[in-house]
Amino acid sequence: MQQDAIIIGGGFAGLSAAYILARARRHVTIIDSGTPRNRFAARAHGVLGHDGKSGAEILAEARAQLAAYPTVTFIEGEADSAEGVIDDFAVRIEGHGSIATRRVLLASGVEDRLPDIPGLRERWGKTVLHCPYCHGYEIGGGPIGVIATQPMSSHQAVVVADWGDVTLFTNGMSEPDVATLDLLARRGVTLQPGAVVSVDGALDGPAQVRLSNGRSIAVKALFITPDLHIRGSLAHNLGCTLEDSPAGKIIATNAMKATSTAGVFAAGDNARAFGNITLSSADGVMAGLGVHQSLMFPATHS
Ligand SMILES: Cc1cc2nc3c(=O)[nH]c(=O)nc-3n(C[C@H](O)[C@H](O)[C@H](O)COP(=O)(O)OP(=O)(O)OC[C@H]3O[C@@H](n4cnc5c(N)ncnc54)[C@H](O)[C@@H]3O)c2cc1C
Repeated sequence: MQQDAIIIGGGFAGLSAAYILARARRHVTIIDSGTPRNRFAARAHGVLGHDGKSGAEILAEARAQLAAYPTVTFIEGEADSAEGVIDDFAVRIEGHGSIATRRVLLASGVEDRLPDIPGLRERWGKTVLHCPYCHGYEIGGGPIGVIATQPMSSHQAVVVADWGDVTLFTNGMSEPDVATLDLLARRGVTLQPGAVVSVDGALDGPAQVRLSNGRSIAVKALFITPDLHIRGSLAHNLGCTLEDSPAGKIIATNAMKATSTAGVFAAGDNARAFGNITLSSADGVMAGLGVHQSLMFPATHS
């Protein structure tokens, strides 16, 4: 049976959109491969009413509530391809064949690519972090490192100074300009030159940041800015225009989360800069409304 919408990605954005469409009694299938971006962190914070629950727990509750709506179908797996035109798309999933749908919502998130420094990957989401608003409070103050990965890392160091005593590891990046150096000094940030060669120590305890100049500095947590990449190639295959954001390429959308391809919508981290659970959920709600309205008014909402 042709679906009103197929949502590719059942994370915070995808499930929020599905919720709107389910309540509009529309037939919606959610395809999800089960690897949300925050799966590396044991707990999620900054989500009103859910403080300290794991991301997996929040998503499981949402899935259970959505399952009560008779027009909702869940498929566990990865959408391999999507093609077609408005009102006549086909989405392929290995083991499930091809499903016909009038609209497609891309809510498949982004991938964090970490700097190639030994010791970072295994600490990602534990003591190596990117968002102080999500996990800064739990560090409980004390020595915190920021490893420079791009010019904006100085800005990150200035902000993170509200959560502890910050060392900015310049890691081979050029020295910040005079105004930035002044701001860093006023925020009590110490600069540490030299390339970071590794991060060592117990995985659940303080980390030792080892530098090329032989120095080793202990920190309770480290912040980095990973490179963000839209997951998969479906946006590209469907011809969606991408745009630059301060956080990397994102899928370009209008206010109703419609992409440049008629009938294709995008929401969540892949379609907004600087996402978190709440912002992705809000994006998903808007996409759900956009998809629903476009089923009735395709000329103005596609
Ligand atoms: C380590 C870490 C910790 C974080 N902690 C917090 C926090 O505490 N609080 C907070 O607010 N934010 C936090 N965030 C940010 C938050 O995780 C993201 O903003 C949020 O997950 C984005 O939601 P989303 O729905 O856009 O994407 P995701 O949650 O990443 O969901 C995308 C879903 O799409 C699926 N998918 C991808 N490709 C396909 C495909 N081809 N077919 C089918 N399914 C597919 C994936 O498996 C995944 O389930 C954290 C991020 C990281 C990296």
